[in-house]
Amino acid sequence: MSPTDLLAEIVLTGFRLVPFPARTGVYTLGTPDGMSPVFLTGNYDLTVRRVKRALRGTDGHLVVANSHGVNVWCASSGGHLSTHQVVTALKLAGLEDRVAHREVIVPQLAATGVEAKEVRRRTGWIVRFGPAEADDIPAYLAARKSKTPALRTVRWGVRERFEMAAAWATPMSLVTALVAGGHRWPAVALVWALALAVFFLFDRVPAGERTKQVLFAACGVLGCAAALGITGALSAGALLAWGTAASAMVAILTFDYAGSSPTAAAGIFDEKDFTVVLDEERCAGAWACVAVCPEAVFAKDEPAHTVRITRADLCIRCGACVVQCPQDALSFATPDGRRVGPETIRRYKLNLFGKRATEPEPPGV
Ligand code: SF4
Repeated sequence: MSPTDLLAEIVLTGFRLVPFPARTGVYTLGTPDGMSPVFLTGNYDLTVRRVKRALRGTDGHLVVANSHGVNVWCASSGGHLSTHQVVTALKLAGLEDRVAHREVIVPQLAATGVEAKEVRRRTGWIVRFGPAEADDIPAYLAARKSKTPALRTVRWGVRERFEMAAAWATPMSLVTALVAGGHRWPAVALVWALALAVFFLFDRVPAGERTKQVLFAACGVLGCAAALGITGALSAGALLAWGTAASAMVAILTFDYAGSSPTAAAGIFDEKDFTVVLDEERCAGAWACVAVCPEAVFAKDEPAHTVRITRADLCIRCGACVVQCPQDALSFATPDGRRVGPETIRRYKLNLFGKRATEPEPPGV
């Protein structure tokens, strides 16, 4: 990675909560021929950089669709990278004269918003959902476009946790530095310590969300008391000020922790309590759900040519399986026994707080 790319990666990671658009259109990779693969992604700058880096050495075409500068998962869940955007991007790309096939590899995490069946109906292009992570594209290509469970499951390891901690801590540090006056450096250190603690530990504490929020706030206050004691600055006023700041920071960092991580259903509304259910009568064994689920909820039952829900507890209610099932065999059940069917999930996308906002798709192109 060149120093310029590294700098861009650091800055974009620090501000990844802010949309940052890349140029839309077609990028030629290497020296493609008529059978070279076609990839598509959203126009979030960091994503485009990472996809291009992952595809270094691969001959092909990269179509960048307009996701309004938002990353693929958030854009798909929120209706900014939908069937409409993909259809538009493919029609504008004009690749029909340059490739002899009609297959486009789309990020797996776009499956919540991009309906493969509908893209094919409108354009003739077959959508194949690639791996969950851009870094895994070479492994996916090497495996002849098949996906092991590892390639289709979202990761939440050290790198991803650090990136999300940095994404929250960077803007919070700037605001804190502006308002903390002479205490700006200890305040910024507190922001980073709390952000790292939340993103590395929050999901590992076996307790309810509210309990954990209180626990992390209490730890923040105790940490401040310890630091004030060590520096000889402990007083009731100082503890009140720093303790309040620490509690407020924990509240901000944990308010929608799930929405910043793939460990639990995002949001604070009813959607959190939905359960994915399978209508076994309808299932015809297309296994689109297996290909797009980022949490390994399903297992193929090959002899019976059907699927089983083996880890419903892992489901984050992203809706990808419901959107993609060609038989409409999957839906969500609400805690009071109602069903939320495929058409609703396809039509209504999640807003910033994890609630399905009314966002009908624009008319076909
Ligand atoms: S089972 Fe849950 S996590 Fe998996 S694709 Fe369906 S809604 Fe998403």
